[in-house]
Amino acid sequence: MTSPKTSHGSAAGLAGPATGENPPAPKGKRKLLKNATVLTMDPDVGDLVAGDVLIEDSTIRDVGPDLGTDGEVIDCSGSIVIPGFVNSHIHMFQTALRGYWTDALAPDYFAQSREGPDAIFHKYTSDDVYIGEYAGALECLNAGVTTAVDTSQCSYTPAHTDAAIRGLQDSGLRAVYVYSPTTGDNIPAPDYAYPQDLHRLKDALAGDGLVTLALHSPMDADNWALAREVGVPIFTHVNYTKGGLGLEELGRAGVMGSDTTYIHCTWLEDSTWRWIAETGGKVSLSIIVEQTLQHGFAGLQPALDHGLRPSLGTDAVSMGPTDLFAQMKAAFALQRSRIQEAGARGENDLPSVVSTRDILEMATIGGAHAAHLADVTGSLTPGKEADVVVLRADRLNAAPLNSATGAVVTLLDTSNVWTVLVGGNVVKYQGSLVDVSVPDVIRRVRDSADGLFARSGYPRDVLGTRNRR
Ligand SMILES: [Zn+2]
Repeated sequence: MTSPKTSHGSAAGLAGPATGENPPAPKGKRKLLKNATVLTMDPDVGDLVAGDVLIEDSTIRDVGPDLGTDGEVIDCSGSIVIPGFVNSHIHMFQTALRGYWTDALAPDYFAQSREGPDAIFHKYTSDDVYIGEYAGALECLNAGVTTAVDTSQCSYTPAHTDAAIRGLQDSGLRAVYVYSPTTGDNIPAPDYAYPQDLHRLKDALAGDGLVTLALHSPMDADNWALAREVGVPIFTHVNYTKGGLGLEELGRAGVMGSDTTYIHCTWLEDSTWRWIAETGGKVSLSIIVEQTLQHGFAGLQPALDHGLRPSLGTDAVSMGPTDLFAQMKAAFALQRSRIQEAGARGENDLPSVVSTRDILEMATIGGAHAAHLADVTGSLTPGKEADVVVLRADRLNAAPLNSATGAVVTLLDTSNVWTVLVGGNVVKYQGSLVDVSVPDVIRRVRDSADGLFARSGYPRDVLGTRNRR
């Protein structure tokens, strides 16, 4: 893998053109990914042991066994080509806090992040938000995630919100920016501008840019009505049985609908699951964080039992990894493990085990449904945006290739992500992010972490574990 490129000092101070160290990324209108094992994740298009993907401008034009050589050819021999992963739940502003709460349980995380005047989130400046979002978005692209639902939770002022959106826009990632009214016990800043900011942001993000708007809402019918008035989808965390019962009340009031994505879905009653399924709701599961934080038992099996098509999110990088390879492995092992346990207890009528294809669907087209972008991304369907990932399978952790979905779900990791396109634009090429100085980004995000720990008084105890109170 070649070294990152250097900066030329753009507005963000972090991006720069190629310096000649890396092969230049294809920039033409017509690109041909050639000789790949192609997993389209669209049953109508099908898969190919060896085939090509043709891209014109921002969209997928064709998928087939041999599409000629007209266009800029990207040789994909020894690779698996898949639609870009969709991360359906991430709090991207937390990038500078990477790993801080890895050993924490839920009460520690919530208390230290947002309760009391020294809570770490309350110390975020708009600059911290910018670099967190920008670095987090680059981390996504580097890992083959081409779309992320960023449930931001850092809109202390309009400047914070604007910085978050700018960080996403500067990265080249496709993102749903989920405006979240401020979290925790802070006193709102004088220029805190919810809900009126939602209208301003809708106008600002109108058009065909990569970043679109949504609203995060608690169980509050007025907020849901506001989202529908503005015309944006709704995302809501449902972590507890009581929250689920509150959701059912909204259901009885006619508020629940297919424009809503339910995050976590832990501890839900069967009746709540029925409300979600019958109203066309979408589901986002963050299996690693839900289990390690002891946030509640994963909703994967109940979602499948109710005929829902779950998606995978990662939640915050302060608590767990944000690549979907890790989430897919966890989901695959967890679902099969639970069935085995139930069988050992003597239970009957056990559910079917999921396949690696089922899991890859969750990480791609399932995520696109949860992001409310299934007509745009999530599969290699001609006419959709060209959000495409090339995974090297001719590596020690993958070769010889005997099962393509098995390799993607259980064998590969971020080191196999070779080339990434978003909307036809090559953002990672032959193992390196395009026009990004990674050392500069790491320096900026480390400086941000220094400031956050200094201002909050929380120790950066690199050798510590769980309880920092
Ligand atoms: Zn969350």
